[in-house]
Amino acid sequence: MGKAENPTCEECGNHGVTRRLVAGAAVDECELCGHLAGSPDVIELLELQREAEELGCSPESFPLARFIDDLPGVRVLSDSGGDEIAGTMPYVSFELSDHRTVQLENLAQALRLMRDELEARWMIEFTYDFQLGFELKARRENETARATPAEVDAARRDMSLMWRRLQVFSGLGWWKR
Ligand SMILES: [Zn+2]
Repeated sequence: MGKAENPTCEECGNHGVTRRLVAGAAVDECELCGHLAGSPDVIELLELQREAEELGCSPESFPLARFIDDLPGVRVLSDSGGDEIAGTMPYVSFELSDHRTVQLENLAQALRLMRDELEARWMIEFTYDFQLGFELKARRENETARATPAEVDAARRDMSLMWRRLQVFSGLGWWKR
């Protein structure tokens, strides 16, 4: 958090503009009208997070969960941005409604490409709860121990970065359709 070099809102002319780093990019937010300025994809991410708050969804996992839910043949079952007080980690749980694995391959390949950028070690876990499911989650040394606030925070930052990278990856040649 800090004041931008040129702290004037282009929307309302207010001089109180806060710059912060979101998914690896700087974004300026007007303290008066909430206008966002910066990279278009990051602004879209923040608008999705605002939408999540209005819907009562978790703003940390909502954009990524929506991206995954929008993939053909994929349905999100549940998602969470984690809880630093309860010590639970963020995740996105989904099923393959068309029983094809192409989107699973896309996500796995994306995780492989993002490996060095992500703070946590992410994996796609196979689950079975009366039906076959998958959970995108961070791998932890001790699964049953409460997550620390730092672990939850790191995983949330990863989720934003994943969303941003997936926007690009899904338009590339290797992405299966
Ligand atoms: Zn403004």
